Amino acid sequence: MRNFGIMMTLLATSSLVSAASAESSLPIVDEPLELTIHLHWDLAQGYEEDYPVEQKARELTGIHLIDKTAGPNSQNSLEAINLLLAQGDMPDIVGGLVIKNTVNEYGPQGAFMPLNDLIDAHAPNIKALLDARPDIRKAITAYDGNIYYVPYVPDGKYGRAYYVRQDWLDRLGLERPDTVTELYDVLVAFRDGDPNGNGVKDEIPFFARDWEEAVRLVTLWDGRTSGSDTYHDFIVDDGRVVHPYAQETYRDGLSEVARWYEEGLIDKEVFTRGRSARDALLSADLGGMTHDWFASTSGYNSTLSGEIEGFNFVPFLPPKSISGKRIEEHSRIPVKPDGWAISFKNEHPVETIKYFDFWFTEQGKLLSNFGVEGEFWDMIDGEPVFKPEVLNSSEPVNVQLRQAGAQIKKGFPQDFRYEWQWTAEEAREGIALYDTHDLLVDQFLGVALTKDEQAIFDRYWPPTQVYMLERQQAWLLGTGDVKADWDDYIEALQSRGYDEVMTVMNAAYKRQYD
Ligand code: CA
Repeated sequence: MRNFGIMMTLLATSSLVSAASAESSLPIVDEPLELTIHLHWDLAQGYEEDYPVEQKARELTGIHLIDKTAGPNSQNSLEAINLLLAQGDMPDIVGGLVIKNTVNEYGPQGAFMPLNDLIDAHAPNIKALLDARPDIRKAITAYDGNIYYVPYVPDGKYGRAYYVRQDWLDRLGLERPDTVTELYDVLVAFRDGDPNGNGVKDEIPFFARDWEEAVRLVTLWDGRTSGSDTYHDFIVDDGRVVHPYAQETYRDGLSEVARWYEEGLIDKEVFTRGRSARDALLSADLGGMTHDWFASTSGYNSTLSGEIEGFNFVPFLPPKSISGKRIEEHSRIPVKPDGWAISFKNEHPVETIKYFDFWFTEQGKLLSNFGVEGEFWDMIDGEPVFKPEVLNSSEPVNVQLRQAGAQIKKGFPQDFRYEWQWTAEEAREGIALYDTHDLLVDQFLGVALTKDEQAIFDRYWPPTQVYMLERQQAWLLGTGDVKADWDDYIEALQSRGYDEVMTVMNAAYKRQYD
């Protein structure tokens, strides 16, 4: 059923580290120990004590996590952690989505415990990871040289990919586009050639659930839009932090993307159609091409091939840019700003760091990635394999896992094998295709600013970014011309403090990564 041989070949290049992991001696405590936790993230605002994964961890470690999450009614994790800090009544553990900046700002002020010595003395598995991956160690370290959180460490290489209606290409007698010029020709043919065969010029050649993906087409002219898996992020160019939206390659690319938009090659409603765009345009046999996640986008062939004759939506290689470069700007980031930290109120830091380390042992990794053995999966030939009822459920596997307390936003190393098992064959082939090229670009893993640097950043960056995005949207929609307006635009960025922001970003970058 599953080709683990191919899978392991692919994983060999993507997996973290296979450092021999030291098993912690379990249980961590002889008498049950309760630790309170704030765990707030986009898909769950709180920690459920009856998660099967929590129950199993209690049995193994002796440590019980008790939910004490602030802001359970807010979807915004940053708001929730700010609320927690304002209340002052800190739980033992603080975790969830995007805690990095908060713990690195308030850790040096005493709100969170520095973890370096605790990790060295009591967390051999976390230590092994940080020793093997200095990039991860640098990315999570605060400006004072301390580590204040144990991160969520993603696995796997690729995120998004280019997808095209292969059946439309076949109907029009076209090849998959391999260069930006061929891509243009295909989009024009999709617009004019009636590939859905209804006699109406109703096709939308390029569409996207996130409008930023239309902007990302600037990479076909060597522009950039982000250095990480967050839209509009900084990039590192030749050892310096810069913003992609202040570069001339972006100017030239956006000028062309605006023309494509004007010519009806990009969805006219790309800014307003929103998250349902992919479902709606594929189901209606209207959308021709997009840039979206491998796993979920490949799922459409099984759901739509019965409804739309010949429907075949397939991944293809990023087309070569005007200078002949082939890049996939989006990939999985090596370390996330998500994870968990130990608050200053915690009276059991040694037990807590041992507990954090448990999730980096083989046993802990299996539990946090796949759920409880025997319930969700079985070990078959040395591989964790989901039970058929899990794979064949109408509920997506990742949703089932989250409901069981696995794959939640705490500090743990993800194991891509969990996802591979329910990745459609088309996506697996696409991943193998992407692996035949060196497509990924170096990522910007963020910087830890000092209090003074943070003050400058907070003062100048938000208005600068708002302005960048306003202009970007206006240019795409045809208000103004990016090339004609460029000098004024750069001047306006400077008057808003672009250079001041770059100065503090680069000071921090040098301190952290040199
Ligand atoms: Ca048509």
